[in-house]
Amino acid sequence: MTQSHAINILLVEDNPADASLFRRVFWRLEQDTWKLVEVQTLEDAIDTYCNYSNLVPGQRTFDVVLLDLGLPDATGLDTLKQFRMALPNAVVIVLTGLDDETIALQAVGEGAQDYLVKDQVTPQWLLRTIRFAIERNNLLSQLKYSEECTRNSLEREQELNHLKSSFVAMVSHEFRNPLGVIRNGMEIVRQLLPDTLENNVEKWFNQIESATEQLVYLVNDVLLLSQVQATSLRCNPAVVDLEDFCSEIIETISQSLDDRLHSIWFDITGDSVSVFTDPNLLWHICTNLLSNAIKYSPQGGVIQLGLTYQADQVILRVKDPGIGISEETQRHLFESFYRGSNAKGITGTGLGLVIVKRCVDVLQGNIEITSALNVGTTVTITLPLNQPSSASERHQVSETREVP
Ligand code: ATP
Ligand code: MG
Repeated sequence: MTQSHAINILLVEDNPADASLFRRVFWRLEQDTWKLVEVQTLEDAIDTYCNYSNLVPGQRTFDVVLLDLGLPDATGLDTLKQFRMALPNAVVIVLTGLDDETIALQAVGEGAQDYLVKDQVTPQWLLRTIRFAIERNNLLSQLKYSEECTRNSLEREQELNHLKSSFVAMVSHEFRNPLGVIRNGMEIVRQLLPDTLENNVEKWFNQIESATEQLVYLVNDVLLLSQVQATSLRCNPAVVDLEDFCSEIIETISQSLDDRLHSIWFDITGDSVSVFTDPNLLWHICTNLLSNAIKYSPQGGVIQLGLTYQADQVILRVKDPGIGISEETQRHLFESFYRGSNAKGITGTGLGLVIVKRCVDVLQGNIEITSALNVGTTVTITLPLNQPSSASERHQVSETREVP
């Protein structure tokens, strides 16, 4: 950007010889490129700067201030500090003597745009320094403005995210209570009715129960998603024995699904160590992967859950012989509510893997999915060990176990 108008300069210099030196240098420049106003004290400088546009109607204020650091009412860096405190947006070039360069550099650190050594000033050097200072100040102002815009939009986005999460959490929560009432009511009504019901009544009962279960499942998933999407999701690590942890999950899943139609084989390789990780997040990862493996596999299918311990990481692998995932679906697996076309007849909401991915990210791990249609799917999660390792926690394991 070039300065098209005359540059308004405020010279703050109490030494008549130095002031006259600057005047002479300015006179050697083109007359219509500058306008000089001179004062001798800091107080006058602040006063003149503030009131210039009032005193000279139609004038902008000063483009640049040439500030001597040794004035009758202030000396050294203090002069600059006081001036900038009163006028933080002013463009200041400090004036120093030959032996004052250290203090001049400190002044630049304190917010002066540049400095001039009085005895070395030439017209070209003066003009160049002034223009450079003004330009630098413009750039800095633009930078500050963009920074502020970015910060504002970030804050707005965070506020919106927070609002969205609290809204989803609130709505989901409000769904839970009536759903609980429906569930309990169904149980009571069932107890009050005779053991054998007419065929169509039994059918209706089962449909209401299964629809209610689906709703409960959906509400729980949406609630969990709103939590994992909130930027506040943190890793709360604890020492976890992965082997026990996985065995418990397999047992819980087998019971909750009342699933006698699939087998889960659990396989461990390497030196088993306790892992320092978040059990809550790990639980969401394992249950979602195992429930996918089960529901997308044919009856009688064998699901394999593998744990492989390596020097600094542990690999958790869930392999199933199920319907598989098409290449197109694989590209969208971590998008909320996305479901494969071959999965439409199977209950699901398309949130499980989004939750898994977010949890894996928080645990600073990695997820990889390989699949072939009608052959099966393997999901591999790699997690850092992060364990406070000790010899007592280490024991050799190599076994294969089947959970019915
Ligand atoms: P839910 O939110 O109840 O888990 P979902 O199982 O449909 O529903 P995701 O677990 O996120 O949702 O899986 C997304 C989609 O990826 C599924 O709808 C399915 O098409 C496909 N998919 C995931 N895991 C498997 C798998 N092991 N075998 C075949 N398809 C799978
Ligand atoms: Mg799922």
